[in-house]
Amino acid sequence: MYDHRKLGRELELFDTSPLIGSGLPYWLPDGAAVRHALEEYIRTVEQRAGYRHVYSPVLGKRELYEISGHWSHYSDDMFPPMDVGSEQVVLRPSLCPHHAVIYRSRSHSYRELPLRMAELGGMYRSELSGVLGGLSRVRAIHLNDAHIFCTIDQVAAEAGAALEMIRRAYEALGIAAARFRLSLPGPDGKYVARPEMWERSTALLTDVLDRSGLSYEAVEDEAAFYGPKIDVQVVDDAGRETTLSTVQVDFHQPEQFDLHYIGADGRKHRPVMVHRSIIGSVERAVAHLIEQHGGAFPPWLAPVQLVILPISEAEVPNAVGIARQCVDLGLRAELVGPEQGSLGSRIREARLVPYQAVIGPKETADDHVALRLRDGRRIDPLPAVEVLRHISALVDAHSSDLWDLS
Ligand SMILES: [Zn+2]
Repeated sequence: MYDHRKLGRELELFDTSPLIGSGLPYWLPDGAAVRHALEEYIRTVEQRAGYRHVYSPVLGKRELYEISGHWSHYSDDMFPPMDVGSEQVVLRPSLCPHHAVIYRSRSHSYRELPLRMAELGGMYRSELSGVLGGLSRVRAIHLNDAHIFCTIDQVAAEAGAALEMIRRAYEALGIAAARFRLSLPGPDGKYVARPEMWERSTALLTDVLDRSGLSYEAVEDEAAFYGPKIDVQVVDDAGRETTLSTVQVDFHQPEQFDLHYIGADGRKHRPVMVHRSIIGSVERAVAHLIEQHGGAFPPWLAPVQLVILPISEAEVPNAVGIARQCVDLGLRAELVGPEQGSLGSRIREARLVPYQAVIGPKETADDHVALRLRDGRRIDPLPAVEVLRHISALVDAHSSDLWDLS
C-alpha cells in the first residue's frame, strides 16, 4: 500500500515547508517533470478537440463572485477578501467567473458555438490546516478546467465528448475510474434555487450517462451549487474515494453574467455553460498516479525515462553521447556512472526508471544498446539510434506498455 505523501517525498517529487505553509506544496524538479508531461498531454488533446486556451488572473474583485454566486453559496471555502484601496479583491475559488467574463467581452454568433475555452489555472481554497498534507488536500489548486459555451442542443454531444476524453486519458495514465456518480443537489441552502433549471440539467446529464453505457449511481447533496454534475470517482490504496474528473451543466452562471449569442434569427439567445475537467487538479491527479503506480509511472510521465549505465570508465564517453542523443529527442535521460557504485546496485537504484541501458565494451564497439525494461524484460542489443527512436515513439504515443507499440 502506498501513501503519496510519504512516497512523493522519498522520490523527491514534491515537499512542503512550514515556512511556506501547510497545504502549499512545492514541486521538486522530478515532480515538475511529471506535472509538465501531464499538462502538455492535456493541452494537446484539448487543442485537437477544438478547445482554445486562455490565461486569466488568480484574483478577482469581490463583485465578480457576488455575481457568480460563489460569494453567497461558497464563501466558507474562500479566503477572506483583501482590501486594496477602495476595492476588495479575492483569491478565486474557481475559474468559471473569469471565463464567463472573457466570453462576454466579445459578441458571439451561433456559428461560433460550441465555443470551448480551456485553462490550466490556479484557484484557492481555505482548507483547515488539520486536513492538509501532501498533494490531495491543498490550499492552492491548479485545475485542468474548461468551459464550453453552447446551445442547449449541443450540450449532450459536448458532455459525451468530454467523457470520451476522460476515458482515453485514464487509459494513457494507467488508472481506472472506481465509479461514475451523478451528483445531485441536497436539501440545504447551499444550492441556487430554480427547480426547473435543476430538472432540465439533470435530465441532460442522465441522458448523456445512459447513452454512454456507463453504469452510475445518483447521489444527493454532491452537486455544484449552480448545477448537477457527472463525477468520475477514483479510490486510493487506503479505500478513500475522491473525485478526479467532472462534467457539469450550468444554466445559472450564463444568466448571472447575462451571456448571450446572436442566433440564426438575428436575436439574442442565452448559451449553456458546460464545465468539465479531464484530470481534475494536477495536485490530485499526481497524488493518485503516485499511489496507483508506486512511483513507476508510465514512460511518458516518468521523471527519468532512461538511465544510462556504463559498466566501466572506458564506456563513459559513449554513454555521454547517448545521453546527448536523448536530449535531442526530448527524452529525459540520466547517466549514472561507475563512480556511483556497482552495476547491480545502480540497476537496483534505477528500478522505477522504465528503461535501463547498460553499456559495456561490446555495445560501445558496435554502437549498440542492450536494454533492460523495468518489468524485467530484456531487449537484444540494437543500434543505439534505433532504441532511442523506439522509446521516443512509445512516449509520443503515451503507450502504457513499455515496449510494444499498440
Ligand atoms: Zn467552472
